[in-house]
Amino acid sequence: MDIDYLIIGQGLAGSFLAWELLQRDQKVIVIDNDKENASLIAAGLINPVTGMRFVKSTGVDYLLPTALDFYQGLAHFFQQSFYVESPMLRIFRNNKELIACQKRLSLSNYKPFLDKIIPTFSTINAPIGLLKQKQTGYLLTKPLLHTLKAYLISINSYTKTDFNYDDIKLAPDLQWQQFKPKQIIFCEGYLGINNPWFSWLPFQPVKGEIITASSSNKIIDKLLNYGQWYIPLDSHQFRTGATFDRDNLETDITSSAKKSLLKSLNHVYPSLTPENIIRQQAGIRPTTLDKQPFIGPHPHHSELIFFNGFGAKGSLQIPWYCQCLVDYLLFRKPIPSSTNILRYYE
Ligand SMILES: Cc1cc2nc3c(=O)[nH]c(=O)nc-3n(C[C@H](O)[C@H](O)[C@H](O)COP(=O)(O)OP(=O)(O)OC[C@H]3O[C@@H](n4cnc5c(N)ncnc54)[C@H](O)[C@@H]3O)c2cc1C
Repeated sequence: MDIDYLIIGQGLAGSFLAWELLQRDQKVIVIDNDKENASLIAAGLINPVTGMRFVKSTGVDYLLPTALDFYQGLAHFFQQSFYVESPMLRIFRNNKELIACQKRLSLSNYKPFLDKIIPTFSTINAPIGLLKQKQTGYLLTKPLLHTLKAYLISINSYTKTDFNYDDIKLAPDLQWQQFKPKQIIFCEGYLGINNPWFSWLPFQPVKGEIITASSSNKIIDKLLNYGQWYIPLDSHQFRTGATFDRDNLETDITSSAKKSLLKSLNHVYPSLTPENIIRQQAGIRPTTLDKQPFIGPHPHHSELIFFNGFGAKGSLQIPWYCQCLVDYLLFRKPIPSSTNILRYYE
């Protein structure tokens, strides 16, 4: 069967790319093995200003509006909202952070993202104060991916199976099973490290664990950021995470992660009693050496395309980079050099 694009992986990268291509009247098939999907467990947070020096994320001025438009388009189409915009309270951990933040607050290009410093908030332990951030929120990744999967199934564009790299035929025509795509686009998340065509790309995967819990007492309804984060889901249920572990890349959950997440939360929010741990989940972020995505065609086989490396910022980055890749595929518009995989090809 002739199709335009075969997409491997139905995480945020593969799903959004499929959606963007469908919007532009392309015939796509998405393959996923339903196994290790970081997007399904991700918190989906979008936080434009991060780090100890309160620096704007690279490209946030164009990444964020594109992401918000993209999520609004999906909400409109499916008549369901997938993005929760909510201010975030960042707790200063030391005086250095407070001083760095005061500097940023005086800069006009930070004004859209930083609201004000507040001395205290409710029962939160914040002896140095808190920063109220704007344009923060989180993507409901699980409902969104389930909705997109159901949609792809309804238009016969989804196949659940393991994609075996040896089954690709490059000549006389590109072919995988019965499908003859113009190009194959790999969106396998951190499992892209096993892709024989792109094994030269320097991934630095990082494991993360997240807890969902509830308290019988009413909980604070603001996003909190204290090195880790707290997301209230309703008046009693919340998520907290995430750990960063570069050494252990198994997707098992650990008691040490649980202990450390609950300890950090208890330090900033001592009155919260998480009586019921609903679930603990682990996943691997597809992080890269230079923290930039890996996008573009294979240097010798332009029919094989990579779309990966969105690290810990998939919700913010993927919609804009989908548009870049689709503009490349359809109009040969150059892929931004900072993200083009050729930067690592000798
Ligand atoms: C604990 C944790 C917290 C996070 N929090 C945030 C956050 O707050 N904000 C944010 O923006 N990002 C966050 N992230 C990062 C975010 O999850 C990633 O940026 C994003 O999910 C990457 O999406 P992806 O589609 O590239 O990969 P994935 O979501 O991993 O999807 C890849 C898919 O490809 C499939 N696949 C792979 N190989 C094959 C094969 N051979 N055959 C068939 N299928 C295959 C996999 O099974 C999977 O379904 C977090 C990640 C983790 C782990």
